[in-house]
Amino acid sequence: MALLNFFGAIQQVTGSCYLIESRDGAKVLLECGMRQGRREEDEGNRSAFAFDPHSLDAVVVSHAHIDHTGLLPKLAAAGYRGPIFATDATSELMELMLLDSAFIQEKDAEWENKWRARAGKPAITALYTIADAEQALSQRMPMTYGERREVAKGVQVTFHNAGHILGSAIVEIEIQDHHLTRRLVFSGDLGNSCSPLMQDPSILTQADVVLLESTYGDRDHRSSEATLDELADILQQAHRDGGNVLIPSFSVGRTQDLIFYLGRFYQEGRLPQQAVFLDSPMAIRANAIYSRFQDQFSPEDRAVFQAHGRKRIEDWLPVLRCTPTPEESMAINRIKSGAIIIAGSGMCTGGRITHHFKHNLWRENCHIIFPGFQAKGTLGRHIVDGAENVKIFHQSIAVKAKVHTLGGFSAHAGQSQLIDWVSHFNHHPELYLVHGELEKMQTLQLALRERLNWIANIPEPGEQIAL
Ligand SMILES: [Zn+2]
Ligand SMILES: [Zn+2]
Repeated sequence: MALLNFFGAIQQVTGSCYLIESRDGAKVLLECGMRQGRREEDEGNRSAFAFDPHSLDAVVVSHAHIDHTGLLPKLAAAGYRGPIFATDATSELMELMLLDSAFIQEKDAEWENKWRARAGKPAITALYTIADAEQALSQRMPMTYGERREVAKGVQVTFHNAGHILGSAIVEIEIQDHHLTRRLVFSGDLGNSCSPLMQDPSILTQADVVLLESTYGDRDHRSSEATLDELADILQQAHRDGGNVLIPSFSVGRTQDLIFYLGRFYQEGRLPQQAVFLDSPMAIRANAIYSRFQDQFSPEDRAVFQAHGRKRIEDWLPVLRCTPTPEESMAINRIKSGAIIIAGSGMCTGGRITHHFKHNLWRENCHIIFPGFQAKGTLGRHIVDGAENVKIFHQSIAVKAKVHTLGGFSAHAGQSQLIDWVSHFNHHPELYLVHGELEKMQTLQLALRERLNWIANIPEPGEQIAL
């Protein structure tokens, strides 16, 4: 009997990790994500893996986001030397994500150790290093959508487009169990069908077991047109107020969507700001990968995007200025009005956005726009939840800027889209909700029972089921 272990993203959004063990002893790790958010999460990232890394035959990841791939360097450091399967675009994006993450880990440890030395405490080691990330990257095995490959003895994997970010996949896994084949479908992160550039999530109909993400299991997003109008209104208001607009954004996915939308405003004469700064080295590099894989965009948006011979993401928004170097980034601090600043990290847990917060958050004429999900415990969530003061670089900063959240830009399917996607499976396979906070899962569970008469399970962390 094949087994499935729920190790991560169980009753929470981050740290995606599942282990499949076939009856013949093949072990395939599905996802190796980092937990993000609170301090306890960091301890979770540091604790030993719940399995022996040497025993794995293969690793499969759905997409490049750190909450799905972020512990791959740690896995390599722990001795895993086998293949890491992902789509071709994910394989490329992973290089940006993992090297950046390793850089942050090294810097964080360096910073912490300075403080520890002064306090007479023993030094810590980085969670992982750039060398570990490079080792993991050397184990990548790119695949194309629709290609079916045996990743371990008796275990076949096929990636289908999940429409969430470039390269993102729904993972279909067939596990041979004697004469039976058990089919597991993992939704990965499902895209919002309203979001630009990406295609709609692929529809699958056959499965024995389905793992369904539930990030927004409790609600529907506003329509993208309404959200776009809202964004246009905020930009007009900010222009009248005379301050800057800060947009904390995930470098991969959300930022490219934003550039596409701002480009549309620009073409329509609806963008009052004369300068848009893309202050994120990683987003700038991600743009290049998006530009290279534009054949994977949705056909309608690709046609719009490519009109007038545009080839690069940057061509779409002529007032976009990319600021890769720290000097260029710091120069933005001198600008007090009329700029839109897009910077990471998306949940404000670090990165250049925190510097821009320091210079703008306390100013009443500035506006902060959150276009993406803010996990519990992050600086972004504190601000969204209405904190009057926040701590940035050990300084208390008043939150006087106007704060907006734009739910409609989510790169995740809303509740109705999740229910619609899962409703296409024949004969109600066993259904498990993952990648969501418990309350949101419970709301989705209720909705699935009411609308489809389908009882979904909410697994416990560490739970094991027979496939
Ligand atoms: Zn994701
Ligand atoms: Zn995710």
